[in-house]
Amino acid sequence: MSQVDSVPFVDLSVQWRQIHDDVMPDIERLFAKNAFCLGPWVADFEQRIAAYLDVKHAVGVNSGTSALHLAMIAAGIGPGDKVLVPAHTFIGTVWGLIYQGAIPVFCDVEPDTATIDLKDAERRMGPGVKAIIPVHLYGQPADMAAVQAFAARHHLVVVEDTAQAVGARYDGRRVGSLGAMGCFSFYPGKNLGAAGEGGLVVTNDDAHAATLRALRDHGQSRRYTHDIVGYNYRMDGLQGLVLGHKLPHLDAWTDQRRAVAAAYAQGLGDLPLALPQVAHGDHVFHLYVVRTERRDALKAWLEAHGVGCGLHYPVPLHRQPCLAAFADGAGDFPVADDYAAHGLSLPLFAGMTTAQQERVIDTVRAFFLGQS
Ligand SMILES: *Cc1c(COP(=O)(O)O)cnc(C)c1O
Repeated sequence: MSQVDSVPFVDLSVQWRQIHDDVMPDIERLFAKNAFCLGPWVADFEQRIAAYLDVKHAVGVNSGTSALHLAMIAAGIGPGDKVLVPAHTFIGTVWGLIYQGAIPVFCDVEPDTATIDLKDAERRMGPGVKAIIPVHLYGQPADMAAVQAFAARHHLVVVEDTAQAVGARYDGRRVGSLGAMGCFSFYPGKNLGAAGEGGLVVTNDDAHAATLRALRDHGQSRRYTHDIVGYNYRMDGLQGLVLGHKLPHLDAWTDQRRAVAAAYAQGLGDLPLALPQVAHGDHVFHLYVVRTERRDALKAWLEAHGVGCGLHYPVPLHRQPCLAAFADGAGDFPVADDYAAHGLSLPLFAGMTTAQQERVIDTVRAFFLGQS
């Protein structure tokens, strides 16, 4: 047996120890400057993440949900418009279009990757569809070549939900930079996490960028001139500061995540368990989701043996009470239902020790093979 008593689902303290000495004196400077809302730390982070992602513009906002909302507005999505979205994702994917009075058209996901199934999207395509939101779920890029071809054929705007996949590449390019706009979340548990809420929209389009900058700050292009109806979706200075100190570590943290995923693939590959597949581009393993018919029993077993785990996500969008009107008559989503019923997320975080990884592998193996 391995040497650790328990393994948390996620432990962010490893990241914090690495940035602590740089962050603390910088926070003193931020307070001295009262740079609490937007300000130089946010502007600096925007510049650096734009370079990292190789995009022209990065617009910091206060959450991933706000990012997606503003992207929907900038894409011209309004009342009655339809937007294709995967049925299996975090609900934050759809709030923005719902806030705009638009209609989500749910699509099933691919069995191997849990990303949007373009063949199913083709079947559900109809009049009024204006945009598509591919979600790079769990850190696995959606099949963006297929998304782009589909969107070009049907004249759709592509808005990427990159909340779980910062740093992942598709065909050599960072995801989020491939569509008209890419939306990121810096919720603390994401691969690049703030000290609170945060988000970002990126784009190569100058007009979109200007609109997004105005929208997040009360619709003003110049102070006290409100050309459009806006929001208070500004990024906090403190979040820009923390994110700026974390960004240089991101690739190393991603490598650590990939190493954990490789250890799991090696240690669990012979069990009656569907493991994550890497199919399009690379994978940054925000989550490591395995599937088994015995999901609930495995979850109870892991928890009883001190191994944290999670469900992402147990209720697909087409079964959410608040979205029922949009699911009515939409047909079946067998793969989304399968992920919801049988998916289980194992612990995976940057800085996870070998002993912790072994403890997870041993505990899962003991469940299936009856060893201890
Ligand atoms: C986290 C997340 C969001 C929303 O981001 P918040 O910052 O929590 O508002 C949207 N979509 C996906 C796929 C997410 O994982």
